[in-house]
Amino acid sequence: MSEEANPFESLQEQIDDAAAFLDVEDDVVERLKHPERVLELNLSVDMDDGTRKRFKAFRSQFNGDRGPYKGGIRYHPNVSRDEVKALSGWMVYKCAVVDIPYGGGKGGIVIDPREHSAAELERITRSFAKELRPLIGEDQDIPAPDVNTGQREMNWIKDTYEKLEHKTAPGVVTGKAISSGGSEGRVEATGRSTMLTAREAFDYLDKDIEGATVAVQGYGNAGSVAANLLEDIGANIVAVSDSSGAIYREGGFDTAAAKQFKRETGSVSGYDQADEEMTNEELLTLDVDLLIPAALENAIDGELAQDVQADVVVEAANGPLTPEADDELTGRDVYVFPDILANAGGVTVSYFEWVQNRQRFYWTEERVNDELERVITEAFDNLVEAYDSHDLPNFRTAAYVVAIQRVVDAYSDNGNWP
Ligand code: GLU
Repeated sequence: MSEEANPFESLQEQIDDAAAFLDVEDDVVERLKHPERVLELNLSVDMDDGTRKRFKAFRSQFNGDRGPYKGGIRYHPNVSRDEVKALSGWMVYKCAVVDIPYGGGKGGIVIDPREHSAAELERITRSFAKELRPLIGEDQDIPAPDVNTGQREMNWIKDTYEKLEHKTAPGVVTGKAISSGGSEGRVEATGRSTMLTAREAFDYLDKDIEGATVAVQGYGNAGSVAANLLEDIGANIVAVSDSSGAIYREGGFDTAAAKQFKRETGSVSGYDQADEEMTNEELLTLDVDLLIPAALENAIDGELAQDVQADVVVEAANGPLTPEADDELTGRDVYVFPDILANAGGVTVSYFEWVQNRQRFYWTEERVNDELERVITEAFDNLVEAYDSHDLPNFRTAAYVVAIQRVVDAYSDNGNWP
């Protein structure tokens, strides 16, 4: 991971790159590059051994022009104010590019969750939820899972909020367990949008997804589901990785079996079906048809990008390419399909979950997946239309051109009061 790239600066550069193709005033662009507000907290929480520990936490509300702030909560030792600000901005443009009625937000706690018991994590999460209570709500700001958080954490947040508010409000968070108001298909949604984006991209580029070789960096929720669904449509998943390292198999992995191995042992390394073990850098520079970075920001910097040999990159992670990497790949005609489309399935099914919560009427998995496919393919078509008609340098700029215009339209309809 590159030490230098600041994700917040990357976001601002991406906005500037796209705004150059739009008729938007500079002061409006300036507004689109900064969060409306950022809450910084120090949570003081009891540990199991009787001591008390301090945890830094953030929630950034970037832009609410198109609806309530929406975005995940991340637990990771590298969480920082600038990272959370960047991630909240990416949520704004992600929700706009798939045209769901939300603004963008993001939260995080600086923590290594592997160092804590479930009881400690529950107290930490509930402490965060108590502090967030005045800011969040079904019509205000709606958290969701992100790196190292899932149904368990969302249920704690929902329960804390509902008890403090003395009412039921399942739509205050999304990504909940089904029994607590979660949606069918939500767990798989991020990876499903990555598969759909890759399928549409290959179709647009006149390439065959059947038999295409694929490398997936990161085998968590997004990467493993994307790999599995791509295998289902005939792609050949030749390499997968996690933070422990990468594994390669020329004939392609049985992705479900590889996931089971990771579940049992904690990592993909050491899997006996692999022909060879390699580093994450080696995986990222494999000569494959499709590369899917599905881990964290800045996985590919300008230097590593020079060695990337994939024809197509579909971003399942948020911000996996630095702006320098983007420039390098654009210059070499490597097609990059951006995070704000390719992982937007997560927030799209979050939106469906919220709609179901508000209506107290629950959909079948088939309905969820059909609606998701409609949203992602329509967004893909809008992006390609912008790419072709504005003669844009790459698909990321195309996505931002579509998204920024939608945010600007809402802002100018709303007016700049007060
Ligand atoms: N954390 C996910 C993302 O980065 C999902 C956010 C949501 O569902 O609100 O898109």
